[in-house]
Amino acid sequence: MPQNGIHAMVGIASRMWMPKREWLLLGVVLGNMFPDLDNLVVAYTTLAKLPDPEQYHRTFTHSVFTILAVVVLFYIIAIMTKNERWNNLGMGLGAGILMHILVDLILWFNGVELLWPLGSELNFWSWFTTPPWLKILLDTGEFLAFGLYFLLLVSLSQRQGTNAELRKTTRMWGYIEFFLFIVFTALFFTIGTEGLQYKIFGVLYLVSLIVGMVITAKMKRTIETI
Ligand SMILES: [Zn+2]
Repeated sequence: MPQNGIHAMVGIASRMWMPKREWLLLGVVLGNMFPDLDNLVVAYTTLAKLPDPEQYHRTFTHSVFTILAVVVLFYIIAIMTKNERWNNLGMGLGAGILMHILVDLILWFNGVELLWPLGSELNFWSWFTTPPWLKILLDTGEFLAFGLYFLLLVSLSQRQGTNAELRKTTRMWGYIEFFLFIVFTALFFTIGTEGLQYKIFGVLYLVSLIVGMVITAKMKRTIETI
């Protein structure tokens, strides 16, 4: 998979084509990050020792039906609360999830179950076997990409004079991510990926993903001022 931080940065970059509406670009960036939350289910099934946990990745959150469900759900919320911004958020989330799926399909070495639950995985990369060294870098690169994304948010907030109160924490998280990237790359290349260190990696990845989405939501002003 392309690293989640890369998905987030693709969301930020899409601002050039997005109409300016309140909460729309926030939705786009969160939507670009959201589909990888399916790894929470993968983690749960791993811990619960259920069969074949990986089967849940790139399925229900990577489906066109999820996009429809999200857009409709937020449309209903917008009507109920008489607040058009929820609709903007829903449209942004839908566009963001769609972008995530397209980037996944084109950029990386796995398939996506675009029509889940109807099955039929779409995979442009079935001919490709990921060599072990590349697999390691794709995994630990998650931390690197989160770190870069956090520092991007900090520099945008400096340039625009927005969310000054969040800069210190966000920068700190950026450095934590770089540190984790170095530590886990060194660990995986020396003692391998099998065992406890991979479980710890998985937990820290999920923590980073959730922190990333929380920081994104808090930095709403920075993202929407761009
Ligand atoms: Zn994905």
